[in-house]
Amino acid sequence: HAPFDVESIKADFPILRERVNGRPLIWLDNAATTQKPKQVIDRLSYFYEHENSNIHRAAHELAARATDAYENARKKVQAFLNASSVNEIVFVRGSTEAINLVAQSWGDENLRAGDEIIISYLEHHANIVPWQQLAARKGLVLRVIPVDDDGQLLLDEYAKLLNPKTRLVSFTQVSNALGTVTPAKEIVAMGHAVGAKVLVDGAQAVSHMRVNVQELNCDWYVFSGHKVFGPTGIGVLYGKEALLNETQPWQGGGNMIKDVTFEKTVYQNSPARFEAGTGNIADAVGLGAAIDYVTKIGIDLINEYEHYLLVYATNLLKQIKGLRLIGTAAEKAGVLSFVLDGFKTEEVGAYLNKAGIAVRSGHHCAQPILRRFGVESTVRPSLAVYNTCADIDALVDALYKIRNKVY
Ligand code: PMP
Repeated sequence: HAPFDVESIKADFPILRERVNGRPLIWLDNAATTQKPKQVIDRLSYFYEHENSNIHRAAHELAARATDAYENARKKVQAFLNASSVNEIVFVRGSTEAINLVAQSWGDENLRAGDEIIISYLEHHANIVPWQQLAARKGLVLRVIPVDDDGQLLLDEYAKLLNPKTRLVSFTQVSNALGTVTPAKEIVAMGHAVGAKVLVDGAQAVSHMRVNVQELNCDWYVFSGHKVFGPTGIGVLYGKEALLNETQPWQGGGNMIKDVTFEKTVYQNSPARFEAGTGNIADAVGLGAAIDYVTKIGIDLINEYEHYLLVYATNLLKQIKGLRLIGTAAEKAGVLSFVLDGFKTEEVGAYLNKAGIAVRSGHHCAQPILRRFGVESTVRPSLAVYNTCADIDALVDALYKIRNKVY
């Protein structure tokens, strides 16, 4: 059923040849982090073996190689998101850091007591807590878009929350806890209609669907490298160029300045403006390799294949008596979330681990949305391009064994 050779993709990921508890590893914890193909691992080794240097500041050969590699990675991210300029791509530590950067630079500078921020019920804690902290610092009002019983955002309710005091809307394109794909373009347009700026959290989107920031027309877009087959500790803040350049820097230090005297510092424009100090050079290069990897397979084909897997898995899980799927929106990507009657989610996770199957059991750093469905924790298998129907069959088989207590 796959529009590409899944077995050869799987073979690119050395860790998928591991055995766990005597069983071949089945990695279904992709929403937490994805595994890395050899192409990314090799690129990191190549960097350290042939290119390693600090960037931008030296006249020697390795500084030029490292700078080229780093700036090429930025170009790859630009193309991947279809940003209009490479200056719109700021390397950060991950989605969490990108959101905190916007809250602490643009937010602190531009928001005043009484201003309103809108987030959604689906948000990861990374897209809740920084806004709560900002709201507490500045005396802002935080409003939340509710969801329907399938876990989709209610646009009518969102429309009622919007008003001229709304200065910022920040929401996820794909829910990490339920897999809901939100109508991002519409949410952005509705926010802009009242003059708000809009941030889209793409942490769970980029490995599953084509992203086009110009079409979305969001003001900021954030994602983490490690969720799209790249290294940990590297991520991206996209922002519209004019907006980034009119925002005060976040951290001060080397690399982000044009000129420093004891009286006054003149800052660089984006991206250097927001990249103080020595960044995560090698891992940015590794992220570039991960983007090449995804682009070579084709993100649209990945989307099509994962949709097929999701439907396949959903239909099988629905047949398990006592299993309650949470998050049943028509538009979903990558994530299945459920509880099993009579079993703690940790028990299910622990048994699946015995069977070599890695899933997350817990609150997925998204407590409000789970509580909306009356649970504190779910079991969450999550998909990536290297998963197969056989992986799903193994999961389903293990779940029947748990339910029938034959393990
Ligand atoms: N937003 C969403 C939707 C996420 O799924 C995650 C990671 N689970 C984050 C933000 C935070 O990403 P990171 O931990 O890589 O900063």
